[in-house]
Amino acid sequence: MKTNYKFHKEDEITVLTGAGISAESGIKTFRDRDGLWENHRIEEVASPIAFSKNPEMVWKFYKQRYLQLAKVSPNPAHFALKKLEDFSGSNFNLITQNVDGLHQIAGNQNVLEMHGSLRHCFCSKCLQSFEIKEIDLDQIIPKCTHCTGNLRPDIVWFGEMPYKMEIIDKILENTKYLIVIGTSGIVYPAARFLSIAKYFGAKAIEINLEYPLNSTVLDEFHQGKAGEMLPELIERWIS
Ligand code: NAD
Ligand code: ZN
Repeated sequence: MKTNYKFHKEDEITVLTGAGISAESGIKTFRDRDGLWENHRIEEVASPIAFSKNPEMVWKFYKQRYLQLAKVSPNPAHFALKKLEDFSGSNFNLITQNVDGLHQIAGNQNVLEMHGSLRHCFCSKCLQSFEIKEIDLDQIIPKCTHCTGNLRPDIVWFGEMPYKMEIIDKILENTKYLIVIGTSGIVYPAARFLSIAKYFGAKAIEINLEYPLNSTVLDEFHQGKAGEMLPELIERWIS
């Protein structure tokens, strides 16, 4: 595995992850099969319109995704990123489009969950937030204990503004390296992070099973499974 880079502790390092990093943990990616996510068209379950039309189906889908988390664990790619954060300390930023929380379980601390989290929900009426583990999932549509409004998963759905965009923009302007792992680069705004970081002078590195469409902006591309490639790459970058 060849790489041209050596990281220093003072280098600002940013990682962007997508569903591909969790594939080896057994969580299906969105585009695994014909653009279906666990047999659903994404618009059917991941939009505010879908929730207002059919909250039962949307909750059924997210309850399944949440219950699946009890059966999965981080893989070597997640643990390698913990090692990278240990090396870089406060110069390390991890932006994830994933909602599975596996980065935190692996021990990463500076994790920006731009698309929300399967472990949280909030009231669509009074906005009070709750951890899923504190609500009764036997309810077909879980209700807010403060105002009886419908709770909804704390997931950023299509048409909604991702979280932490202000801080992410600053990170992308200042980072020395952007490492993109397991994302198809189709879902905006994450799809434009690479070109923003490049515009501000970052080196861009990508790890993916497939050769990317946006290969022209990359400085280094490593083709393969994140769980197999990342531990060795990180070892080389920080040794
Ligand atoms: P995506 O499904 O569109 O793309 C996955 C990418 O990962 C593909 O480019 C694929 O080639 C690559 N990949 C698959 N297995 C890999 C492996 N072992 N190693 C390296 N790369 C691998 O995912 P996305 O770009 O993250 O966009 C999907 C959206 O759906 C996200 O916004 C996310 O919120 C949501 N989603 C989240 C999860 C999760 O939290 N685990 C799972 C599915 C979907
Ligand atoms: Zn409420």
